[in-house]
Amino acid sequence: MDRPYLAGLVLAGRKVVVVGGGHVAQRRLPALLATGADVTVISPEVTPAIEGLAGELTWVQRDFVESDLDGAWYVIAATDDGDVNAQVAEAAESRHTFCVRSDDALGGTAWTPAVGHHGSVSVGVLGNREPQKSAALRDDIITALRDGHLTASDALDRTPGVVLVGGGPGEPELVTVAARHALASADVVVADRLAPRELLDELPAHVELIDVAKLPRGRSASQDTINEVIVDRARAGKRVVRFKGGDNFVFGRGFEELLACAGADVPVTVVPGLTSAIAVPARVGIPVTHRGVAHEFTVVSGHLPPGHPDSLVAWDALARLRGTLVLLMAVDNAPSIAAALLAGGRSADTPVAVVVDGTMPTERTVLTTLGSLADDLVAHRVVPPAIIVVGDVVAVARPAHYGRG
Ligand code: SAH
Repeated sequence: MDRPYLAGLVLAGRKVVVVGGGHVAQRRLPALLATGADVTVISPEVTPAIEGLAGELTWVQRDFVESDLDGAWYVIAATDDGDVNAQVAEAAESRHTFCVRSDDALGGTAWTPAVGHHGSVSVGVLGNREPQKSAALRDDIITALRDGHLTASDALDRTPGVVLVGGGPGEPELVTVAARHALASADVVVADRLAPRELLDELPAHVELIDVAKLPRGRSASQDTINEVIVDRARAGKRVVRFKGGDNFVFGRGFEELLACAGADVPVTVVPGLTSAIAVPARVGIPVTHRGVAHEFTVVSGHLPPGHPDSLVAWDALARLRGTLVLLMAVDNAPSIAAALLAGGRSADTPVAVVVDGTMPTERTVLTTLGSLADDLVAHRVVPPAIIVVGDVVAVARPAHYGRG
């Protein structure tokens, strides 16, 4: 067998014919449609998924006839009938049109590689007709590119400026692909205490790592310092990644940093992250909504106690809501928050889950009720970071604990 010649086909606006409407065809169609090809499917029957694509392709609902290939640039024979596939391959051959035969690679004139994409790079693997091996190798290559173990440095955006990157709740696996790309492209990384630390170990030695936890004390003072650092470095032509836990715009002061950049004419982009408010409960199997139980969830910062002059939270209104409350930064003020919710009408036996160090090796969950929250935080020695989930969704997730099993 001679070697195949690898080529990238430019199919936009060109006629491509897929003969067959089963699962093989279904698997091939999305990638073909993504090229912008003018796709025709020939088959008396198709899977519901292909039928769902009707608006994006032409479905000719009958058996194959040779003239179906007239004007085609590329053909896939994917019926479950070897004779029909052979007939398609022959008709393609006589028209000098490349044809993939899904049942018998050697009977066609083109092979489908295992394909993956990473940024602007496409990777294709053609094994010696061992599709599983090819797919596994493709997966390894794409994973390595995503993890930064293989670098397609040219494919990364290295423009100077600031990228605000949400790192997710803590476990490195829960960071987005875009976050990994941003880290791989950084000259400077400014990281918070709650950002996934393991990923910082992977940074190449030339990257300047600024640990915000080590900057001078005092909330606003250090925020000014952070704004100054990211703006200065970006102005010096560096690509700066501001790397935080969760999502930068959820109690992350991300928008202050965006404004600081905008004010200094520094380009800034945002890579959203999985916020701990949703991801941490989810990871321990607690949904923030559930049909018939909670039609809303409210995410609240508990860093100021109810009644504090600077507080912007209407705790009495929250007490009257029926849905789920997700409290962040609320461990210290939990006693007064629970008291305010009880005073506002929430029942003392409202289920509460406290998830400490969510998604991290030290993760633990304390189950309690609104009436016992204050005592249980002390009894279980809860220290931040913790997410406090208040509402019946907790009992739905842990029915046995609440005697609802
Ligand atoms: N921007 C972050 C929230 C920052 S406020 C986000 O979107 O997730 C910091 C608070 O987030 C902590 O006090 C705690 O309430 C919560 N938090 C963040 N990560 C957490 C984790 N892994 N486990 C439990 N709580 C977490």
